[in-house]
Amino acid sequence: MKQDTPITVTSPLLPPLEEFIPYLEDIWQRKWITNNGHYHQELEKALCDYLGVEYISLFTNGTLPLITALQALRIGGEVITTPYSFVATTHSLWWNGIKPVFADIDPATGNLDPEKVEAAITSRTTAIMPVHVYGNPCDTTALQEIADKYGLKIIYDAAHAFGVKRDGESILKAGDISTLSFHATKTYNTVEGGALICHDAETKKRIDHLKNFGFAGETEVVAPGINGKLDEIRAAYGLINLRHVNQAIEARKKVAETYRAAFKDVEGIRMFEPIPGVRSNYSYFPIFVSEKEYGKSRDALYEEMARHDVLGRRYFYPLISTFSTYRGLPSANPSNLPVATRMANEVICLPMHHSLSPEDIYKTIEIIRKS
Ligand SMILES: *Cc1c(COP(=O)(O)O)cnc(C)c1O
Repeated sequence: MKQDTPITVTSPLLPPLEEFIPYLEDIWQRKWITNNGHYHQELEKALCDYLGVEYISLFTNGTLPLITALQALRIGGEVITTPYSFVATTHSLWWNGIKPVFADIDPATGNLDPEKVEAAITSRTTAIMPVHVYGNPCDTTALQEIADKYGLKIIYDAAHAFGVKRDGESILKAGDISTLSFHATKTYNTVEGGALICHDAETKKRIDHLKNFGFAGETEVVAPGINGKLDEIRAAYGLINLRHVNQAIEARKKVAETYRAAFKDVEGIRMFEPIPGVRSNYSYFPIFVSEKEYGKSRDALYEEMARHDVLGRRYFYPLISTFSTYRGLPSANPSNLPVATRMANEVICLPMHHSLSPEDIYKTIEIIRKS
């Protein structure tokens, strides 16, 4: 039953090579290949337009903007965050000497539950770091109310939320800072890359210093910054991909709609409900397998899929709070995180990308319906 190429959970959106070559020729002519070059500036402008935000700083990946955001806002002490994410979210706190405090999530979205966040606040809490997981918008209104009430900052890890809008507004406008990842596996990629969105020119200036070693001028270093710069080659690649990303999102939408219709009546398979007013980017398609109702465990289904060369991913399993660095924290105790623990044990992200064929989709559906 093995076919030659497995159906993978994701596939990178690659710019057409013939469109890329003239950009490379131009970069070779310019001989300016990094440090806020021509295409870097062009991409910042184009992304502001596309995303509907005012201030963006590009980075060489999606982890450094998280680390830099915490530096820029001078966050310390304790930060409340979600265990149901990619490890980079919590690692960014650790790299800043901040103690992560895990709070449980809402089963309807997979995002931090504002009530659990409020309950986790102590005198040492300085900020909240939520994630718009799978591109599902967080309850930004409730989180902001809590932040305002206790004088906390909010840094959104929006790595999954490229282009996501609610009621026509970019969700990147929420909180003090949002960060994006342009990693190869994401809906929009620059191979590796990322960005930080802030809401005023002063903060953008500080971020731009911080991502360039703290240099504020030829001989002036204003902060212990890092090297987070995106080069010209990937900026040009990103400009081209931006022209193709809407088409890729449309293709993903069709996959999502097909999956949704196919699993509607399958007992023991739960999906997220579409959220009214949200323009999704269809970055992932998670299903949650209830062993009791489905008759087979999540891992058994995952392995059955793999036997047929359909490679799902158990995002997010295991929970970040179970990794050795974090599991000793009091908030990492599974009894504090019952919803996240259950979702991590039930989730499989199905193959979801712009170049899945109808046959790929059909095959994936059949395995899950028949298992
Ligand atoms: C991908 C991802 C990151 C990290 O991005 P990189 O570009 O790989 O450094 C951070 N947070 C979340 C939730 C992610 O999915």
